[in-house]
Amino acid sequence: MSLTEGQRSSLLALQLGRVLFDEPMSRHTSFRIGGPVDAWVKVRDEVALMNLLQWCKREALPVFPLGGGCNLLVRDGGIRGVALRLGKGFRRLAFVRDPASELQDEGSEVDAVSRFSASVEAVGGVAEPHKESGVALPVDEDGRVRLHVGSGVVVPTLLRFCVRHGLGGVEGLGGVPGTIGGALVMNAGTHEGELGDVVEELYVVDGQERRVLQPAEFSFSYRKLVLPEGALILGALLALRPRSGEQVQQEIRELVHYRKNTQPTGLPSAGCLFKNPDVGPPAGKLIDEAGLKGLQVGGARVSEVHANYVVSDGKAQAADVLELMDQVKNRVQSIHGIDLRPEVRVVGSDPPG
Ligand SMILES: Cc1cc2nc3c(=O)[nH]c(=O)nc-3n(C[C@H](O)[C@H](O)[C@H](O)COP(=O)(O)OP(=O)(O)OC[C@H]3O[C@@H](n4cnc5c(N)ncnc54)[C@H](O)[C@@H]3O)c2cc1C
Repeated sequence: MSLTEGQRSSLLALQLGRVLFDEPMSRHTSFRIGGPVDAWVKVRDEVALMNLLQWCKREALPVFPLGGGCNLLVRDGGIRGVALRLGKGFRRLAFVRDPASELQDEGSEVDAVSRFSASVEAVGGVAEPHKESGVALPVDEDGRVRLHVGSGVVVPTLLRFCVRHGLGGVEGLGGVPGTIGGALVMNAGTHEGELGDVVEELYVVDGQERRVLQPAEFSFSYRKLVLPEGALILGALLALRPRSGEQVQQEIRELVHYRKNTQPTGLPSAGCLFKNPDVGPPAGKLIDEAGLKGLQVGGARVSEVHANYVVSDGKAQAADVLELMDQVKNRVQSIHGIDLRPEVRVVGSDPPG
């Protein structure tokens, strides 16, 4: 059900940023699949975000946080409520000098967030690759460099920043698309490392309250982040280490090169559909050995290049992908006795009728 005329005008009146109604989610996912969301809102900054959350609470509308949509399969009936994308005000990428002294003492956690935000030294969100920045790194006593990264920053921008400033720790994200918000939630990475490895603090909105989460309040594991239910991530504090920018770049390049040779490019997908089992061969190998490469339902097909990818011909429906996932799961279960768990997040509802 779409929003009422009254809801539409009151949402627009808040002037939060860009607002689209009955917006096809296929325009906001790497799969290019998904029915309409009642409202898609790109909030400008934190003030706009808090206003939107209050408005949604008042209107009893669910909020769905959306990053780059690179790990999402949205059902064909779409999403009820508001899809929330974090805009320009959440793209900060900045060194933090001595975060301990900023966050200690008597202030409440909310104060700590405000002081944290005010104290970072912005050095710009976009960095040219190849060039050393010439900015002296603020190395802490433990040899680490603390970096605040907003959830709206896209992963390649963080990587370019690290190359330019000579920072190691996130090379394993080479070639991973999406935003930092999504990468935190998914603990994105590769066999070379995951984002969670370098996270020291998370900045979240929990209910209507902004909070700094310490490591005791969250935990990362394989493609998973556990944090308080419903928390929206504004950004993170990363602890990186000084490293030659050339080496960082070289490692990222090698990873991207490897991926280009082993993963499908040029067709819409959501990356790997299934998680690798805890032990034994990876999901792609299990699917390949079950002879499922090339298996097709409607416009969705198990990739011939990498069996854990399902690619769309551009016309696939979510129902096609879901049916294909079911078939793959059942075949792998009957041949290998292994229950594959989805990595892709399936959200939204089926079309009525
Ligand atoms: C071609 C391709 C290759 C890929 N390769 C890899 C890979 O090698 N390794 C890997 O780990 N992943 C890979 N992925 C998957 C995807 O890139 C990652 O999962 C990525 O981190 C998702 O980020 P996103 O911003 O697109 O998140 P989205 O897909 O938009 O969202 C993912 C989840 O995070 C939630 N979310 C997003 N932002 C926030 C926020 N600010 N606060 C709270 N919740 C939020 C969403 O509600 C959703 O549940 C690949 C995807 C593609 C298309």
